[in-house]
Amino acid sequence: MAPDTTDDDRDKKIAKLQFLIGLTNLQTSQQSKSKSKSKSKPKLDRFDSILEMLETSKPQIPQVEQETYPSRTINAQLQVEKNVIGIYENFLEKGSNNIPEIETLKHVQYVRFYLQNPLPVEMLGYDSLHTWTIYWLLNARCTLGGYDKISKVEKDAIIDKVFSFWMDETDAIGGFSGSDGEYQLPHIASSYAALLSLVIIIDDDNYKRIKKNLDVEKIHQWLLSLKQPDGSFFMHTNGETDVRAMYCALVIINLLGIKDEKLTENCIEWLVSCQNYEGGFGGDLMDEAHGGYAFCGLNALLLLIDTPKQLYDLIDVDSLISWMVKRQYGMEGGFSGRTNKLVDGCYSTWVGALSPLLEVVTGTEELINREKLQNYILCCCQDPGKFGGFKDKPTMRCDFYHTNYVSCGLSFCNSFHFIDEDIMKEDGLAFSFKAAKLDDDCPLGLVDPVFTVPIGAPLRFKKYMKRE
Ligand SMILES: [Zn+2]
Repeated sequence: MAPDTTDDDRDKKIAKLQFLIGLTNLQTSQQSKSKSKSKSKPKLDRFDSILEMLETSKPQIPQVEQETYPSRTINAQLQVEKNVIGIYENFLEKGSNNIPEIETLKHVQYVRFYLQNPLPVEMLGYDSLHTWTIYWLLNARCTLGGYDKISKVEKDAIIDKVFSFWMDETDAIGGFSGSDGEYQLPHIASSYAALLSLVIIIDDDNYKRIKKNLDVEKIHQWLLSLKQPDGSFFMHTNGETDVRAMYCALVIINLLGIKDEKLTENCIEWLVSCQNYEGGFGGDLMDEAHGGYAFCGLNALLLLIDTPKQLYDLIDVDSLISWMVKRQYGMEGGFSGRTNKLVDGCYSTWVGALSPLLEVVTGTEELINREKLQNYILCCCQDPGKFGGFKDKPTMRCDFYHTNYVSCGLSFCNSFHFIDEDIMKEDGLAFSFKAAKLDDDCPLGLVDPVFTVPIGAPLRFKKYMKRE
């Protein structure tokens, strides 16, 4: 909604909505105007933007298709639309004063509770996700505004915990596993999550301890053992190869300063082959384009090239943008991960992070509709109760994974990114992303779209690793 929208425009829109949805008790424009005077302008804009979403958006699946090809997929999409429309209408009915905002305090309490307490037995399924759990909760806490508030005691506990998953006492060459269980293998994704946790908490006080415990040469040898002739990486010994493994390996390689020709050989060629006819990236050659793989594919390339312009020589940037834009659904405002799939809050990062990256690469101001995405996150993914956390969609429960990636997505909605050319020349393109808030009052921290940790943290970690 343009900031200069007139009251008359708003009157017309509300009248039209009343007609469209048959609400008899919808707040009048006069009520809206009088309440709005006491509230900040952005809140009124959000009321308008939700109104506009309901007015102008068409169902994702045309009526004729719904009738001609009835299926579970189509029914699921119609149900999500119905749920989301119901939520938006409910907020509009309550008036512009009640459009939800980010409830950081509640979410920080949720995150801190699970960071500081053993997980309940119902969460046994998280057993192989220990390093991920630490990263998701820790990063969510930082994104929600707590980057400077993590105490020494907490940092020491996190270091102890992370290194309890280091595979040193087995036959493994190196790397972190997802759990300290007997049958665990060192795993690239678990190692990525472990390392990102250390990236977040490293400081003057603990960097020597982290450096002493982190056997960089073993990790180097271990990654070489997972490297395949076509350029890809096994996720673990004799495991699968895909774009996730490539991205996570390249993050580790860049952060630890172990980039060499053997590790990067054929990486670019292999990654480029994963961009498919849709414009997005699949997990492997000929796979369907997917939000998570698109995030990993684009970022893996940014971890390998020197300047944004080089991207144009490697992939079809316009086609990737076209695919990304189609992932945002007009009615819901959130992103889907694949063609004809449902919106899901976590794609606020997997697809949402592509937007700042591609805005920087193309020099374009706004490729996605940040306002619509923010509406989906705050109205449909935020826990409506007192416990906090974020979720996939309204009918789901909150969890750690979604709390992190939805928080990051919300930060992307409220910021813009740019490149520091001096850092790009000195330390590489992937370390050069900087950000600024669109609204100074936004309580969220700024997030690095390549590493998904607080902005500036990857470069700081890299410098600590070089320090004596
Ligand atoms: Zn999800």
